[in-house]
Amino acid sequence: MQATNPIWAEVQQLLQKTLSKPSFETWIRPAKFNCFENGLLTLIAPNTFSSDWLRKNYCETIEKAAKEICGHDVKVVFKSVTNTSRDLTNEDKPNEQKVHHKKSSSSSSNNQINSSKNQFKNPNGLNLRYVFKRFVVGPNSRLAHAAALAVAESPGREFNPLFICGGVGLGKTHLMQAIGHYRVEIDPEAKVKYVSTETFTNDVISGIRRDGMTAIRDKYRNVDLILIDDIQFLEGKEYTQEEFFHTFNALHESGSQIVIASDRPPNQLSGIQERLISRFSMGMTADIQPPDLETRTAILQKKAEQERMSLPRDLIQFIAGRFTSNIRELEGAFTRAVAFASITGLPMTVQSIAPMLDPNSVGVVVTPKQVINKVSDFFKVSTDELISSSRRKPVSQARQIGMYLMRHGTDLSLPRIGDEFGGKDHTTVMYAIEQVEKKLSIDPNIASQVQKIRDLLQIDSRKNL
Ligand code: ADP
Ligand code: MG
Repeated sequence: MQATNPIWAEVQQLLQKTLSKPSFETWIRPAKFNCFENGLLTLIAPNTFSSDWLRKNYCETIEKAAKEICGHDVKVVFKSVTNTSRDLTNEDKPNEQKVHHKKSSSSSSNNQINSSKNQFKNPNGLNLRYVFKRFVVGPNSRLAHAAALAVAESPGREFNPLFICGGVGLGKTHLMQAIGHYRVEIDPEAKVKYVSTETFTNDVISGIRRDGMTAIRDKYRNVDLILIDDIQFLEGKEYTQEEFFHTFNALHESGSQIVIASDRPPNQLSGIQERLISRFSMGMTADIQPPDLETRTAILQKKAEQERMSLPRDLIQFIAGRFTSNIRELEGAFTRAVAFASITGLPMTVQSIAPMLDPNSVGVVVTPKQVINKVSDFFKVSTDELISSSRRKPVSQARQIGMYLMRHGTDLSLPRIGDEFGGKDHTTVMYAIEQVEKKLSIDPNIASQVQKIRDLLQIDSRKNL
C-alpha cells in the first residue's frame, strides 16, 4: 500500500479546499491510496466505520474531484485496514459456528489489499473485536476479567462452569468471546463453540421436529470450550432445559470448559429447574457492574485510539459523564459525536456537540415542514400519503412517528399537529404519540429509526444556524 500517490494527493488538496476542516481531517486525510487502475481508484480507510462512512457520504464528492484532476470519469471504492464491513455489521449477531482450529495463513507478505473477501475475515466465527486487548478492565469487571483469563489459560479446572452475569451492554458477550479467541490463540487445536441460548433452543426444537437429537448431541458435545450466551432465555422452556441439562453434564464430565453469560445471577433466574441452577453455581460466578466514571473515560479513550479518531479530552469527559449505565450506549454516543461534527462541520467541542447527544430530547427546534419532509424521505412515503388517511401499515407507522417527532421538535399543540397531518383530530395525534412511546421502549428497531430521524433533523437545524 502506498501512502501517497500524486493523483490522490491532488484530489486531497482539492477536497481540502471544498470540505469543512473537520470533515477533511476526520475522513479524507486518513484515507490512504491503495491503487488506481482502469479508472478505479481504491482507497483504504483506517477502520470499517470510516470506510462505511466514506462510502455513504463522500463517494460522489471524491469521484467528482478525481474527475476534475484526471479529466475522465473515475470510480472510487473504499476498503478498511481492519476487518471487512460485514464483520462489523454482524456485530450483535456473531456467527455461531464451530471454531476451526486452523489459523488463517498469514497474508502479510502480500501488502496489497486485494479484493479477496476472506483476507480479513475471522476464520472462527467469533466477533474479531471482542478480544481481551480491547476490553478495558475497571473495578467493575476486575473479577470477571480475571476469571475469564484463568479459564482461557487453564480450561476445565476449578472455574467450571464460569458464570458471568451483569446488565445489558456491560460487556458479557465481549468477555465471553475473548475467552474463545484467547483459547484458540493458546491452543490452535482447541474446539471452541459460541452459541446463543436462542440458537440452542431453536436447534432443540428442530431436533424434535426433524433431525433427531443425535445431530444436536454431536454438535454440542464434541467441543472443548463452549460459550453459551444469554442463558436467561431458558426461562420457562422445559424441554430445552432438559436437553441443556444433559449437554451440560456430558461436557462437564468430559472436562470441557463451560462458560455461561446471563443478565442475572443463577439464584435470581426464575422458571429454571433447580438442578440446573445448582449446576450453574458449581464453579465460579463473576458479575460485571456498571463502570465508574474513570473506567468509562478509559473505554472512550481506547475506542478513540482504536478508531484513530481524536476527540478532545473535555468532550470525552462529557460523554463519559452522561452515559453511565450501558457501554453500548456510551460507544454509540461517541460515534454520533464524530458523525455530527463531520457532517455539520461544527468544531469538535463540548459546546457544539453536547446538545446533539442528549438521548432524551430532540434538542432542536424544527419546522413542521422539516419533520414531514424528513419522515417522508426516511420511510420513502410521499408527503401526500403521509398526510392522507391511508391505513397502510408503513404509511400509518411513518405518520405516527412524524406526529411524535413534531410533538417533541416543535412547540405545536396537538390540534395544530393534527392540522399539519391533513386535518386529523387531536385524539388521533395523542393516540399516535402514545403508540410511538410504547414502541420505543420495546422495539429497538423503531427506537433506532426515531433516533436516526432526530439526528438528521438536528443536523439540518444546525446547518441553518
Ligand atoms: P452485553 O453482552 O453485556 O450486553 P456486550 O459484550 O455486547 O454487552 O458489550 C456492549 C458493547 O460495549 C460492545 O461493543 C463491547 O465491545 C463494549 N464493551 C463492553 N465492555 C467493555 C469494556 N470493558 N471495554 C471495552 N469495551 C467494552
Ligand atoms: Mg450480550
